[in-house]
Amino acid sequence: KPTVKSDIEIAQQSPMKPIIEIAEKLGINEDDLELFGRYKAKLTTESLKKIETKKSGKIILVTSINPTPAGEGKSTVTVGLGDAFTKIGKKAIIAMREPSLGPTMGVKGGATGGGYSQVLPMEDINLHFTGDLHAITTANNALAAFIDNHLQQGNQLQIDQRRIVWKRALDINDRALRKIVIGLGGPVQGVPREDGFDITVASEIMAVLCLATDLQNLKERLGRMVVAYNFDKQPVTVADLGVQGALTMLLKEAVKPNLVQTIEHTPAFIHGGPFANIAHGCNSVIATKTASKLADYVITEGGFGADLGAEKFLHIKARSAGIKPEAVVIVATIRALKMHGGVPKNDLGREDVHALTIGYSNLKKHIETIQSFGLPFVVAINRFITDTENEVNMLVDLCKQENIPVSLTEVWEKGGAGGVDLAHKLLDVIEKAESNFQPLYDLSDPLEDKILTIAQKVYGAEKVEFSPKAKKQLQDFDGFGWGHLPICMAKTQYSLSDDPTKLGRPTDFTITIRELKPSIGAGFIVALTGEVMTMPGLPKLPAALKMDVDENGKAIGLF
Ligand code: ADP
Repeated sequence: KPTVKSDIEIAQQSPMKPIIEIAEKLGINEDDLELFGRYKAKLTTESLKKIETKKSGKIILVTSINPTPAGEGKSTVTVGLGDAFTKIGKKAIIAMREPSLGPTMGVKGGATGGGYSQVLPMEDINLHFTGDLHAITTANNALAAFIDNHLQQGNQLQIDQRRIVWKRALDINDRALRKIVIGLGGPVQGVPREDGFDITVASEIMAVLCLATDLQNLKERLGRMVVAYNFDKQPVTVADLGVQGALTMLLKEAVKPNLVQTIEHTPAFIHGGPFANIAHGCNSVIATKTASKLADYVITEGGFGADLGAEKFLHIKARSAGIKPEAVVIVATIRALKMHGGVPKNDLGREDVHALTIGYSNLKKHIETIQSFGLPFVVAINRFITDTENEVNMLVDLCKQENIPVSLTEVWEKGGAGGVDLAHKLLDVIEKAESNFQPLYDLSDPLEDKILTIAQKVYGAEKVEFSPKAKKQLQDFDGFGWGHLPICMAKTQYSLSDDPTKLGRPTDFTITIRELKPSIGAGFIVALTGEVMTMPGLPKLPAALKMDVDENGKAIGLF
């Protein structure tokens, strides 16, 4: 067995260039940077304004098949593709999400790519970075405090304390905080009520920050957020409480995009990281747009598989920001396709060409979805050193038989060099195939129809069932004037259906909508299928058990 270096070992052995040099290549001088040490910087508001009128580069969206516990390597391919573009002499920038500390300490470890395709400084980005997540946590909890204070001080807005929907937030997986009681201890300690914590990345403020186009737009969106309902069951907003200005102030630095670099010194923006179930799962609009003004190609990513991340990128982010991708990369791994073909995780080491051909159906569905949006694409097979020659050949053949553009990428092992073929194939489809991007539903469609369209066209479902609660909410939401908003589906990432055990390409299934949740500041209605975890728990053996720092303060075990 060949010895393989861990992601953090590779990251720490890779020399970085000063971020000033990286910025210079983009035409940004030192005055336009707010430095966080030598290797991280935010772009100033003035510098963002200066480039506003520049011509936009082409946006490439990286998405994947339905993820499995075997890992797909979407971030790894995103980073490697950026480096590959640089390698062939193109001006490219990567735009990605900032990792949440909850999953980092829990099961995931880092989320900054892998192998020789990583963004640096890996440990900073995975830990506190430039403090954006802390600012979001603080803004979230300041709002919670303002709500409770409003109750305490006479409750002029007649907020029904049983109908407060705003929760507190923490960027750590802590299941014990999911449901709590606050305000105990008598009249001066607040009004007793049930409350709970979400993980910071599930806070609506994270989604708002990521969809805001500038500071003013951020303030408007924050003002529109619904925090509770009053005794007449009418929504109460942040603007009703009058604290949108204070919240915007707390976020005024966090809204600026963070610039870092890859191992091969390609510039990368790491900014914002909303959940891909309860929210839309993409890095900030500000980062993506800024990147498009500074480079000819922007490589960006949507969370989870194409049924969630890409669908939301295209229906929510692209539409609200007025951007459109030129092409899509659909990442698949042989391991994951074998799992979709019925192989249990522990048997993935064994060659199984037959299971691969069955699991291919999952990839096929996502290809059809991207085609239905009118977008050119390339399938990227993210090669693992354990994939056999027969398996690789079979998957390439399956694609070629159907004229599906496919590229074998080895960016994890080789960095940008392992993605040069993918970059060329992308340039080829961008040149040849026309991008006729078209959303699958219109914003003017009724909420119910929008959900049905996503379920049938993106998931391949037969029908949608709404719980009595969801039906009532559909009516109420229309009455509140929210019917024109896009839908943000909260569904398991593991299956095209709402049942995580149905792998491959399930057919004849029903999607059940249990409940709706308004995210009016973000500008979408969340449709919840089944239980969605907004405060994850820790596993029996959390990743934290392997973490440490040496005597010089160097992190160990962040994967
Ligand atoms: P995703 O973005 O799909 O969650 P990541 O890119 O974060 O996946 O990768 C998850 C993990 O899998 C990382 O630790 C990464 O190093 C590892 N990984 C990704 N691609 C490969 C590969 N081709 N070979 C081995 N490990 C890989």
